[in-house]
Amino acid sequence: MRLLDDPRLKAYIEEAVGDEGMRIAELLLSREEATDTQIAEELGEKPSHVRKVLYNLYEARVADYHKEKDKETGWLTFYWYLTPDHVEHALEMRRKRELDRLEERLRFESEHEFFVCPTGHERFDFATATETDFHCPEHGEMLDAFDNAKEIEAIHARIEALRAASARPEGA
Ligand SMILES: [Zn+2]
Repeated sequence: MRLLDDPRLKAYIEEAVGDEGMRIAELLLSREEATDTQIAEELGEKPSHVRKVLYNLYEARVADYHKEKDKETGWLTFYWYLTPDHVEHALEMRRKRELDRLEERLRFESEHEFFVCPTGHERFDFATATETDFHCPEHGEMLDAFDNAKEIEAIHARIEALRAASARPEGA
């Protein structure tokens, strides 16, 4: 099925809920929905442990549940299922946050002048460099102008890669 075939989604789930969460996600995938008791039996785990992992899946928006009340006993049964759309949404949000961050960084790099200690150990922006009259605060040496064209190019490349990775058309 689609969810765990997509390496991005798989990586997201593994990162969010680990191997144990992945085992439960795979089990849920094979049967649309299951109760915590069924999962515990199938995996040979304690129900309390399974519930904890299920809750992690829920927090990571990988799984959701609906509950049903037994009319006679009043007991609640939780039926768990996977929510691949939520995972895709979470990935999309993360991609957009990263894009915002990079665009901000690109603006900063483009709009500022930089200087570097001749030993290359540290880069300073213009405002910081003026504070020490363009001398390295550590070595006392005169700072050189720093060309950040390579940094800008690298940020551009990452932005392009992230834009190309869009799961959905922009603005959708
Ligand atoms: Zn220095």
